[in-house]
Amino acid sequence: MRSDDSEQRLAAARDAIARAARRADRRPDAVELVAVSKMHDADTIRPVLRAGQRVFGENRVQEAAAKWPQLREETPDIRLHLVGRLQSNKADDAVALFDVIHSLDRPSLVKALAKAMDVAGRRPSCFVQVNIGAEAQKGGCPIGELSDLLEQARSVDLPVIGLMCVPPLDVEPAPYFALLAKLARDHGLGGLSMGMSGDYETAVTLGATHVRVGTALFGART
Ligand SMILES: *Cc1c(COP(=O)(O)O)cnc(C)c1O
Repeated sequence: MRSDDSEQRLAAARDAIARAARRADRRPDAVELVAVSKMHDADTIRPVLRAGQRVFGENRVQEAAAKWPQLREETPDIRLHLVGRLQSNKADDAVALFDVIHSLDRPSLVKALAKAMDVAGRRPSCFVQVNIGAEAQKGGCPIGELSDLLEQARSVDLPVIGLMCVPPLDVEPAPYFALLAKLARDHGLGGLSMGMSGDYETAVTLGATHVRVGTALFGART
């Protein structure tokens, strides 16, 4: 993508976020734009960095480990978010590489991350991913198991800052966003990671603190 395209797309997304926030009586700077760069190479990411974006999301540990160390050397103040499923045996790598993990969703991963954080002496913030539409094929903690999982995470000092969801495809997402917001409130959590390219404005009006936007910034993934 050309640099001016990146600048325009980034400006348009930031503007849409600000407008949605104001509609909901929220401050625009209460919403963090996570630019999801999965499947895009360093040459596609650099124009977005040059346009001023510093917060990026990846969904696979290995892909991120291949791309980001070099980009980070060029631009040290990057913050990297893991938005995809995390296998327990990659917990060490994830803790070393990422600043925020959005996909904590099961007791075995609570244990693996706690151990990895103790060893690394580094504690990335975590979102608990909720399987908000109760879909069999999707990651995320079932709603009925959320309280227990949060309790387990607290008992090993995982820094859980909020909840994350990916609503079912092709249906109106607003009720799912509203439900996630209610669950977060009920559990005293302030962070809400919700909203992607197709629905991030809706998510912002319903309280998203982090929107994960890929296609709208980088174009289609091939
Ligand atoms: C790919 C991905 C995104 C970004 O999706 P777009 O529709 O391209 O904006 C957001 N969240 C997660 C978990 C993803 O895997």
